[in-house]
Amino acid sequence: MQIPFIDLKQQYEQNKEEIHQAITSVLESTAFIMGPQVAQLEKSLAEYTGAKHVLACSSGTDALLLALMALDLKPGDEVITSPFSFFATAEVICLLGGTPVFVDIDPVTYNLDTERLQEKITARTKAIIPVSLYGQCADMDEINEIAGKYNIAVIEDAAQSFGAEYKGNKSCNLSTIGCTSFFPSKPLGCYGDGGAIFTNDDQLAQKMRSLLVHGQSARYQHRYIGINGRMDTLQAAILNVKIKYFPDEVLERDRIAKRYTEGLRPAVDSERIVTPVIKSDRTSVYAQYSIRVKDREAFIAYLNSKQIPTAVHYPVPMYRQEALSCLQIDPKEYPVTEQVSREILSIPMSAFLTEDQQDYIIETILSR
Ligand SMILES: *Cc1c(COP(=O)(O)O)cnc(C)c1O
Repeated sequence: MQIPFIDLKQQYEQNKEEIHQAITSVLESTAFIMGPQVAQLEKSLAEYTGAKHVLACSSGTDALLLALMALDLKPGDEVITSPFSFFATAEVICLLGGTPVFVDIDPVTYNLDTERLQEKITARTKAIIPVSLYGQCADMDEINEIAGKYNIAVIEDAAQSFGAEYKGNKSCNLSTIGCTSFFPSKPLGCYGDGGAIFTNDDQLAQKMRSLLVHGQSARYQHRYIGINGRMDTLQAAILNVKIKYFPDEVLERDRIAKRYTEGLRPAVDSERIVTPVIKSDRTSVYAQYSIRVKDREAFIAYLNSKQIPTAVHYPVPMYRQEALSCLQIDPKEYPVTEQVSREILSIPMSAFLTEDQQDYIIETILSR
């Protein structure tokens, strides 16, 4: 049995004609930059999330970068975030000369541990970037409350959680600014790089709109130092098709994830593995279905020998990255991140995983 880690092929096959039509119409119009499909996508994303302003942009990384630029992050400013995320979350802070300040993660959700947040706030703290990891939102209410007390902005790194709900509201629309990614393997993926920024703040929206076209206020008038952060019309056209099927895929992902959790229960009960825990006031879009085991390398070798692909998100915490060695952080400060980064691994997950494939994976894990 051939099981892809994420089945992008099946998804493409399903809506192939519609996607080809959308691509062809961009080619015929030659409006490759800022064609009408971009504004159309922004409108759909605003309707889906309820956010007042949505800006389609070049990637999730650029979305985060633009958000921090809009907040006027300056060298010496501090931004609090999770050490257990994709590198981009900390990278954008450093690109602007800021200092990432890490808070250890919660041992159950692997999101930023809100209990430890307040002690990291200083007079230089400019923003907090909680990461809604694997598709489950961080504790946004608690984080917003603490940030509000100190007048600090909150940027949700929702690169993995587009489509997730938190207390009835959509991820990306839960704080000052939300940022997501449409990288092909994300829950809603395009066929290249893409991202989006969400906010209800008129001024921030206007500034980010300008920053993503070289800080332009009008043609060839530059108010800010910005970037080339536009989304390609082709990617917007592809997303306009895919977003129609996305709500059904979210339901399917949820059904498949719950089936994993149910099927793997015996291995959890005998303490051989730990499966994801989603808090009762929120949903996950399961960007990854990640489990924990004590002997990860042997476990991965076993699954791979049975033709089951795996991935590790993420094996190296931020403070252990060579590029951040200048921060001189002692890993002992982050015991939970240390343990989870040694034990975590992700198994195949997509809305197109078949019951046969899933049963085979579950049985293979149970019979180890
Ligand atoms: C994927 C990802 C990003 C970066 O998004 P790109 O579109 O690849 O630039 C940022 N943060 C997290 C948590 C991610 O998973």
